[in-house]
Amino acid sequence: MQNFVGVGVFRGRVIGPVRHMPPALAEPPAGEKLESSTAPETAAASLKSAGATVKAALQERASRADGAGKEVLEATALMATDPMLIKAAVKLINTGVSAERAIWEAGDSVAQMLTNLGGYMAERSHDVLDVRSRIVAALRGVPAPEIPDAAEPFILLADDLAPADTATLDPSKVIALVTAGGGPQSHTAIIARSLGLPAVVAAAGVAGIAEGDLVFVDGSAGVVSTEPGDAERAAVAQWQEKASLLDVFDGAGALADGTLVPLLANVGGAKDAQEAAAANAQGVGLLRTEFCFLGNSTEPSHDDQVAAYKGVFDAFAGKKVVVRTLDAGADKPLPFLTDSTEPNPALGVRGYRTDLTTPGVLARQLGAIADAAASSGADVWVMAPMISTPAEAADFAAMCTAAGLRIPGVMVEVPSAALTSRHILDHVAFASLGTNDLTQYAMAADRQLGPLAALNDPWQPAVLALVQATVDGSVAQAKHSPALGLETPSPKPVGVCGESAADPALAVVLAGLGVSTLSMTPRALPAVAAVLRTVTLAQAQALANRAVAAASAAEARELVRAGLPALAELGL
Ligand code: PEP
Ligand code: MG
Repeated sequence: MQNFVGVGVFRGRVIGPVRHMPPALAEPPAGEKLESSTAPETAAASLKSAGATVKAALQERASRADGAGKEVLEATALMATDPMLIKAAVKLINTGVSAERAIWEAGDSVAQMLTNLGGYMAERSHDVLDVRSRIVAALRGVPAPEIPDAAEPFILLADDLAPADTATLDPSKVIALVTAGGGPQSHTAIIARSLGLPAVVAAAGVAGIAEGDLVFVDGSAGVVSTEPGDAERAAVAQWQEKASLLDVFDGAGALADGTLVPLLANVGGAKDAQEAAAANAQGVGLLRTEFCFLGNSTEPSHDDQVAAYKGVFDAFAGKKVVVRTLDAGADKPLPFLTDSTEPNPALGVRGYRTDLTTPGVLARQLGAIADAAASSGADVWVMAPMISTPAEAADFAAMCTAAGLRIPGVMVEVPSAALTSRHILDHVAFASLGTNDLTQYAMAADRQLGPLAALNDPWQPAVLALVQATVDGSVAQAKHSPALGLETPSPKPVGVCGESAADPALAVVLAGLGVSTLSMTPRALPAVAAVLRTVTLAQAQALANRAVAAASAAEARELVRAGLPALAELGL
């Protein structure tokens, strides 16, 4: 047996066979020529046959899919033998270009042409790029760059996953995620939590596990073991027994003494919102609007945006929905906003900053949010990602007012915003801590890098101190707010919508630090609610003080876990 230790990011224990995610496909080198021994006619015939193979494989997959997935696969299948695409490639082959390079370049031109047409046609440009990669893979005789398809449920093993990969992730087939890279705040971790899949990230060495080998995954302990035996089977059985205790959230987040801590949901669109409502989330604390448009190569139209937002609002009529404006950039590039050549995208023009380089998109988005809000019964709040200064907060608030949106707020995910929250909150109505990015920026550790997972840990006392500073800033702001009479108003709300809110022990610390709401993937609601209910505010404050004063993330975690016996009782 071999044990691999990584970071557990979602609880659960399973045993299953491993399937590897194929590596990303390398672009055929520019200027690659046909080999002198290959006639252009032969290369053209190979290309056509590769197109037909891809078409047949996609049609076979479509026959087993349903709903929107089936339609996408059927449309993509047809594109694999599309005469315009193939003719353009054959033309290049006839000038001496290799078949792989020819289909690559032909795919580029067709995609560009579709993009220029705009609207529905522009959306299809991604399908063309997808198909050309599949054809290149077929020509090379390597697996297509996609989540593998298998008849039996399996454990997906990857280097890391991007948000776009989820489009083809079938949760009835994939029973756990294991990655060699990524950290606890990476998108693999977010995807795992949102799908409720046991997951271990940053597990160095797992790439060496052979395809099809049976492994045991423990998403709480962060362990992956090959050749599972009786002990591992017993651990899985024990987990299955306890898991049912954490199936349901009753819709009322509170501490043992009755202090309310509303528990909200992080969602990426209408479908998520419906699931969140069914899971009794008390509202939406983070609508990641960029997730609604990840595949778009052009700015979504006003009507498309209104429809996407309204789908979420309608699921939460009468409740709070916090909409975050597009957070494009770094690990979530949107072609119409992001410069893919930036040397350091996490520190680049992302989030609110794209308004500097692509003005207009944000104002139009706010207009669409306002229209969707006006025709729905949700209590809509709006916040901007990646705010760094009070001046940016003031500008954003002015744009919201101009659009008719009444409750502007900011994400606090840059340390400068945490440290100046007092002044930022002079301009906006609320703040929401994005602890994923706050951790990566506080620790100067890219959240996508496996080797930096230990730094990228929201239990780092430095990160907890920034959370504390943000809350302290809101208290100071209330005391010094110029617009009052004698009475001190309540501090403006400071919530948390980073992944840290989904960790039941850390949720206790955040509540103890004075955070007003916690927003998380709906799957985490029952466990967080169950543990919060076991402590009073005074106990949560005492645990929070210990965590902030700890010398390391590990010490903070240990001190707090030791004070929460409910964790062991619930198998968390
Ligand atoms: C965060 O940074 O904590 C956050 C919630 O935003 P995202 O994970 O989408 O960057
Ligand atoms: Mg963020």
